[in-house]
Amino acid sequence: MTKHVVIVGAGHGGVSLAAALRAQDCDASITLLSDEADLPYHRPPLSKAFIASDTPEAEKKLLLESEDFYSEKRIDLRLGCRVSALDTNARRLTLADGNSLTYDELVLATGARARRLPLPGNELDGILALRTLAEARDLRRRLADCQALVVVGGGFIGLEIAVTARALGKQVTVLETAARIMERSVAPEVSAHITRKHREKGIVIELNSTVQAFLGDHGQVTAVRTDSGDFPADLVIVGAGALPNSELAEAAGIACANGILVDAQLRTSATHVYAIGDCVACENRYAGNARLRLESIQNANDQARTVALQITGNQAHFDAVPWFWSDQGEIKLQMVGLSIGRTACVTRGNPELGRFSVLHYRDDTLIAVDSINQPLEHILSRKLLAAGISPDRQQAADPAFDLKSLLG
Ligand code: FAD
Repeated sequence: MTKHVVIVGAGHGGVSLAAALRAQDCDASITLLSDEADLPYHRPPLSKAFIASDTPEAEKKLLLESEDFYSEKRIDLRLGCRVSALDTNARRLTLADGNSLTYDELVLATGARARRLPLPGNELDGILALRTLAEARDLRRRLADCQALVVVGGGFIGLEIAVTARALGKQVTVLETAARIMERSVAPEVSAHITRKHREKGIVIELNSTVQAFLGDHGQVTAVRTDSGDFPADLVIVGAGALPNSELAEAAGIACANGILVDAQLRTSATHVYAIGDCVACENRYAGNARLRLESIQNANDQARTVALQITGNQAHFDAVPWFWSDQGEIKLQMVGLSIGRTACVTRGNPELGRFSVLHYRDDTLIAVDSINQPLEHILSRKLLAAGISPDRQQAADPAFDLKSLLG
C-alpha cells in the first residue's frame, strides 16, 4: 500500500519537501496543505523588489513553482486549507472546514508569524507587519500614498523595507531599541557600515529608541511615541521579529519550547511526525549544540531534504552550515555560521570601499563570517566552516591571502 505523507504548510520548507520526495522517486501520495489563498511563493522579495513594483509580472515571478508543477508531480496542493487539530495516536488531522485527513507520515512546516507589539494604539489603522503575500500587497498599496514611514525595528526585514521605501522617495525613520541595528546577527563593524550607508541615503536611524505607543487621529496612525520623542508617521511597519507557529503541535501534546522540538533527524516527540523550517527548534553544532530556531530559506530547504531522505528510508541527519542573506539597496549582506559565543572579530577588506568581510572567532576557531558585497568570500567561507577549517587571524586579515588555498 502506498504511504500517505501529509505536509502542513506550503511555504519554502513544505514545497521543498514535496519536491524532494518526488525527486527521490518516492511513490507516496503527498498532500500539501496551506492556509493561504495564494499559490506557494518566495517570501524574501516581499520586503524588497515586490513592494516597489506595480507590474502584474511581479506576482508571477514570486511563485515557488508553476501551478502545473503540483499536478505534474502528483502533489495534492490544497489552498485555503487550515489544519485546526492533530491527533497523533489516530494519525489524524482535523481541518478548519470540519473534514479530517489521516496520514502515515506527517510533517509540520507551519513557519512563523510576525510579532505584534502590544502597545497603546496598536489597533490604529496604518500599523502593519509583513509576513505574507497578502500583507505585502497591502503594504505596497499603502506605500504608494505614504509620505512618512516609520519602521519599528532595525532587523533585516525592517531595514529592507526602509531602503525600498526610501528609494521610492518616502521619508523613512527606523526606530531601534538596541544600540545598533541587526545587533543579534552581525558584527558591530557591519552594523556601523550599514547604518552609515542608510543614513547617507537619507534614512533616519534612531538607536536606543524604544517605542512606547502609537498615536492617532480618527482611527489612523499619525505618530510613534518613543522614550526619546514622537516621530510623525502615516504608515508604520513593525519588524519586531517572528514567533513560531507551534500551537497546533503544542495542543497535540508535542514537546515545544520556542518552536517545535526535534532531534537531529527532525523527528518531533510524537512518532511519525517531523517538523521543519521556521517553526522548529533544534540543537545546532554551529552554536556549540545550543538549541535554537533559525529563520532562513537555507534552513527550511536543507531540513526539507533531510526529512525527504528519512521518509524514503535513508539514514540522514540535519547538520547543514547555516547561511542567510539580506539585500538592502546596493548592499548585499551574506552571513554564514553563527556568531554566538564570539570572542574576537577580524575585518578583511576595506569597509570604506563597501566590500569587506568580518570573520568571527571563538578563541582560534572560525565560527561565522559576515560579508558585504563579497559573494565569492561568502561561498569560500561556507566551505571553510563546513570543513571545520579556520584561517589564523593574520591570514584572515590579509586580503591578499587566498582563503581558497586552505581548502586543498
Ligand atoms: P513559511 O514560508 O512561513 O511557510 C509556512 C506556511 O505554513 C505558511 O504559508 C503558513 O500560513 C502555513 N501554515 C501555518 N499554520 C498552518 C496550519 N495550521 N494549516 C495550514 N497551513 C499553515 N530568509 C532568507 O534566508 N533570506 C531573506 O532575504 C529573507 N527575507 C525575508 C523577507 C520577508 C518579508 C520574510 C517574511 C521572510 C524572509 N526570510 C528570508 C525568511 C524566510 O522567508 C523563512 O525562513 C522561510 O519562509 C521559512 O520557511 P517555512 O516553510 O519554515 O515557513
